[in-house]
Order: sequence, then structure tokens, then C-alpha cells
Amino acid sequence: MENKKLTTASGRPYVEHENTQSAGPRGPLLLQDYILHEKLAHFNRERIPERVVHAKGSGAFGTFTVTHDISKYTRAKLFNEIGKQTRVFLRFSTVGGEKGSADSERDPRGFAVKFYTEDGNFDLVGNNTPIFFIKDPKKFPDFIHTQKRDPYTNLKSATMVWDFWSLNPESLHQVMILMSGRGTPFSYRHMNGYGSHTMSFINKDGERFWVKFHFKTAQGIKNFTDAEAAEMKSKDMDHAQRDLLEAIDRGEFPKWNVKVQIMPEAEAKTYHINPFDLTKVWPHGDYPLHDVGVLELNQNPDNYFADVEQSAFAPAHVVDGIGYSPDKMLQGRLLSYPDAHRYRLGANYEQIPVNRCPFAVNNYQRDGAMRVDGNGGRNPNYFPNSFDNIKPDPSYKEPAQELDSIIADWYDRNAPGEDDHYSQPGKLFREVMTEEQRLETVSNIVGAMSGITGPKRAEIINRQLCHFFRADIELGMRVAQGLGVTGIENMMSGMHGQQTTVSVQ
Ligand code: NDP
Repeated sequence: MENKKLTTASGRPYVEHENTQSAGPRGPLLLQDYILHEKLAHFNRERIPERVVHAKGSGAFGTFTVTHDISKYTRAKLFNEIGKQTRVFLRFSTVGGEKGSADSERDPRGFAVKFYTEDGNFDLVGNNTPIFFIKDPKKFPDFIHTQKRDPYTNLKSATMVWDFWSLNPESLHQVMILMSGRGTPFSYRHMNGYGSHTMSFINKDGERFWVKFHFKTAQGIKNFTDAEAAEMKSKDMDHAQRDLLEAIDRGEFPKWNVKVQIMPEAEAKTYHINPFDLTKVWPHGDYPLHDVGVLELNQNPDNYFADVEQSAFAPAHVVDGIGYSPDKMLQGRLLSYPDAHRYRLGANYEQIPVNRCPFAVNNYQRDGAMRVDGNGGRNPNYFPNSFDNIKPDPSYKEPAQELDSIIADWYDRNAPGEDDHYSQPGKLFREVMTEEQRLETVSNIVGAMSGITGPKRAEIINRQLCHFFRADIELGMRVAQGLGVTGIENMMSGMHGQQTTVSVQ
């Protein structure tokens, strides 16, 4: 092993690293022992702000390999040749818990992939669920507050959670998935990922398609029951981090089959479901899955903080051949994700190695805290100029996009035509779940709703029960029975706008 000198951060060799300089063996310390100050001062600054959401996470590097030709839908270079490989970094996470919280919490899981492509980094910032609780980004801070701690008790609060969900019926679909076994995955390796948002593909003829990404786990879906998840919480708070790290260290590289659903641009106008509503899926019967490739994770980061904690994903980071859509949640995230990174990591967060594009980056952005890439050296810092030859490339232009309307207003997200919050969760319960899964889901709902307390308890339970009944009568009945609610007939007439007089114990 090579001998190395221990040095300060500025490179000055240490003569002593364990004893602070003092006036006599038992005397006070000398202020001039700079090494002590440097050590303590840096230590005090080791923590950066934790992410407001998705604070607890795990990540790994890997490769994406194209297995099928989708060039008729997209000209994106990462898909342009069967067998082509692109390096990726994937960060998994829970959503609501703090950085030290348990991996086995009932929560959606983040599934954020960064593809390092020759046209720039493409970030697909998804979850393990194909949908989300809300469809307008203005609701996000309110929603997340309910998933965090009560301002008075500093405790997690089932009352806040169900109050919000019951007042926002568009959340029902995601609530059903969250309350199913998939709300507590056995590990990050054993769950699907979904891009969730509708994105767009643009082909070489300038045609636009709407697209949804699916990552199907090759390890198979495996979930904890509620009891197993609770047990794991007390046994190993970090079990998902441990599972991923150890599997990759053993050479058992987890894989996901990458697939897409494709909708021709014009069909969005006539399709009976709003294809840009993040609370809805596109049923496979209407839009089947097309195979694209395989994503494999095969390299653990050498240093957790450097790569996992400092990784920063933004749905705004697309590449030629992939674009945005009018999905309102996506539109909100285009702004808020890079904004979060600039706050948390600084204006130059894209220079951190895990975030840095490994291919050419040329622009006139300069300065800012922690500028570490040479800052453009002596080259011009303005455009246009007479000295360099850096130019925009119009061949990357997206086709013009026709908008639905040019009348700006605050449109009700749940206006008639946008208010079917019930068909898809109903179908999930009736047609997709097995009886065993239905029983488990109801039991999880009853367990979670039993935590609602306080003077508004009956009101919140009534309101949420109405949503379950609207999705599926059997679902509503089973949850009501589980909660010991009586007077169901009145509840059902209440669903049609009349006063409800059910009795909640
Ligand atoms: P399909 O029968 O073609 O597909 C059902 C889908 O449900 C499969 O993708 C399956 O995933 C997934 N699934 C099974 N159990 C659960 C669960 N507990 N939580 C979440 N997803 C689950 O039906 P449709 O496409 O017509 O959709 C029917 C319903 O299935 C939807 O209303 C939605 O609730 C749910 N769903 C649909 C998806 C879609 O993109 N169309 C995606 C995920 C869910 P897998 O094959 O990996 O087991």
C-alpha cells in the first residue's frame, strides 16, 4: 500500500492529528491549532438540507440497453440502435419520511432515472405507481404537509392525511394503490417503476406521440404485509438500502424491462380519458405496452453522499426526441425541481459529478457558488460574440404544438368531464386485485383510518367512505364494516347529494 501524508484541506501536512496543542499537558488549548478548527468547522457543515420530499433514498449506477426498435416514434439517440447501451444512475426513495426514517413505511417509492446520453442528461423522475394523489401542482405543498408532522404535536397524523384525501377525491386511485400490498414493497428490486407523467416522443419526421414509461421488475413483484413492514421497521430501518447494496455487491444485478405506451398526438383530443391527468392510467387494452429495452443496476456508488445524496433529478431535463406534455403536474415540476436543487445544492448543482453531463456542455452561464468546472476560462461569457463558434442547432427543434385553448383562467381541475375519480380505482379493486389482495387492502385502509381522531373524525370518515362507495359498493361496505360504521343506507343516499346520518363510533 502506498504511503501517503495526512494533510489539511489546503494540502499542509499534519504533524499531529489526535492531540490538540495546549499550554502545558493539562492547560487550555491554543487558538493557533488551525487543524482543530478546520476539523470541527467542516464537521459542523457536513449536513446539507435534506430533501423536503424523498429524503430517504438509495441509488446505484447501471446500464440501459435497447432491445427493440422504437425509432418510428422517437428520434432520441439513446433509443436509436438495438444493443446500444447508455449509462444510468437510479435513485429510489420513500416520500414522506425524514432521512433517518424507515425504508418499510407505507408510502409511494421514488424511482428516478438519469440517462447520461450524448444529447445531454435525460431524467425520468418517476415513482413505483403509475399515478399520483393530485393533478394540479398548486396542491403539492398542502398535500405534502399532511404527509409530514402535525404543527402542534410534531407527530404524523392520520387525521390530516384522511382529511386531505377525503376533500380531494382525485386522490382515491393512488390511495387504493398505496393501501394495497404495493404500498409496502419488499425491496426496491421487487417493484415496478413508472414515469407516471405523460411525456412526448418526436420522430425524425417531426411527428409527436404522447408516451408513458413503464419499468417492470424482472425480479417479480414482492411486497410486505402491513405486519411484516411494521416488524421490519423495528428490525432494520434501512433494509431496502441494505438489500440493494448487498445484491449488487454479490453480483446479482437487478433488472427492469422498459416499456412504453404510445398515443398518437391527435388521439388526445378525442380519447375518453384526459391523457394528461396524473391521477389516471391509460388502460392497456387501449394502449398496449411496447418493449423498449432493459435497465440493469450493476455498480454501487463508492460514496453515498457524493452520488446518492447529491444526485439531483429534474423532469425538465429531456433530450432531443423526448419532450413535455400539458400534464399540469409535469408543468409544475419543470419549474420546481431545478429550483429545489438550486436551493439545496447551489446554482452549479449540475457540475457535481453524479449530475454532470459526461458529454459536451457549452454555454455562457458563469460564476455562482462552488463553480468548479473552470468557469469557461478566458472564453467569452456573452452571446453572440465574434470570438467563438458556439451556436444553437435548429435541427433539434420540436414541432409546433397546438394548444387546446388560448383562454387563460383558473379552470376547475375537477369540473364536469374531469370528475371521474372512481372508475379506475373501482376497476383496480374489482378486476385486477385477487380476493386475497382485496382483503389485505381493506384491512390496511381500516387500520390507517382508525388513526383518525378529534372532533372531525366522523365527518372525515363519512366523506372518505362516500368515495370508496362510489368506486365500488363492496369496497365501501367492507371498509364501513371494518370501521364499525352503521347506517350505511343513509350513507349511500348521501352519495347522491343528500344529507348523511351514518353513525361513526
Ligand atoms: P390490466 O389488467 O391490463 O393491468 C392491470 C395493471 O395493474 C397491471 O399493470 C398490474 O401490474 C397492475 N397491478 C396489479 N395489482 C396492482 C396493485 N395492487 N396496485 C397497482 N397496480 C397493480 O388493466 P388496465 O390497464 O385496464 O388497468 C386496470 C387498473 O389497473 C387501472 O385502473 C389501474 O388501477 C391499474 N393499473 C393500470 C396500469 C396501466 O398503466 N394501465 C398500471 C398499473 C396499474 P403488473 O403487471 O406489473 O403486476
